[in-house]
Amino acid sequence: MSGHTGRFAPSPTGPLHAGSLVAALASWLDARACGGRWLVRIEDVDGPRCVPGAAEHILRQLNACGLEPDAPPLYQSTRSGRYQQVLDDLLARGLAYPCACTRREIDAALAASGHVHAAHTARPYPGTCRAGLQGRPARAWRFHTEKYQAQLAASGDTGPGFALGAAGLLHWSDRRLGAQQQNVALEVGDFVLRRADGLWAYQLAVVVDDGDQGVTDVVRGADLADNTPRQLLLQHALGLPAPRYLHTPLVCTPDGAKLSKQHGAPPIDERQPLQALAQAAQALGLPPLPAPRSVAQALLWWQQAWAHLYNRAP
Ligand code: GLU
Repeated sequence: MSGHTGRFAPSPTGPLHAGSLVAALASWLDARACGGRWLVRIEDVDGPRCVPGAAEHILRQLNACGLEPDAPPLYQSTRSGRYQQVLDDLLARGLAYPCACTRREIDAALAASGHVHAAHTARPYPGTCRAGLQGRPARAWRFHTEKYQAQLAASGDTGPGFALGAAGLLHWSDRRLGAQQQNVALEVGDFVLRRADGLWAYQLAVVVDDGDQGVTDVVRGADLADNTPRQLLLQHALGLPAPRYLHTPLVCTPDGAKLSKQHGAPPIDERQPLQALAQAAQALGLPPLPAPRSVAQALLWWQQAWAHLYNRAP
């Protein structure tokens, strides 16, 4: 078995649909094409958004599609103690800090500094609480992006996962999209590690779990590509190796919106797994099956096609 470990990390907010199956199939093919391991992680940190029974439904759908993980799924809801340990470590090193700001206060501070942002884009945090809470109660905990980037720039050691260029521009490479860049300090700022509602933030949970599970290759939807620089910084701060990243094409509705549960995407039909898989394979640019096949035969066929497309020796 190769040293490759891939994973599929669904949030159990509903069953798999045509869009999420693309990420599942791609990560499975990527791992299997090189004889690697494939894991499933149920990202149920955001309890209020989780739908009862959705995790089991997703696992049943994966099973019907022949996508079997090599270990029992890891549930993020069981990992709070570990996330707290990591946050405590970052706090002790001055790389995380508590924040008392409400969204309204953040907007007011940004407006006062002349910052303009489109209504639908995330606001960078203006850094108000870096100097302390001034007697206000802590709501959230944030990563001190600027401080860590300054430490990295001074040490010059970013490892093989990324490079930090002039003025804090982070460069990384995606296996499908090629060269990517983002200025995390300017575009995102000090991102949240633990949210004001007490929940663990996706960024912290995903980085700790990918690290602890030994994930070498993250394959997921392109809508998550701009989260990668934050994750690379946080991994580095925690001494975790950077995985390689491949962001898959998104499946869109006829009017161009990303297919999602919010847009009412129907669940994939477990009774027609081959049909669902063929649609996902097409979205990945894999060739159509030459003849009717069983699920197992189809997966083997696409595995070879994947290896060819993404340069992985079978
Ligand atoms: N749980 C995330 C989602 O379902 C995916 C996280 C990831 O693959 O990094 O959108």
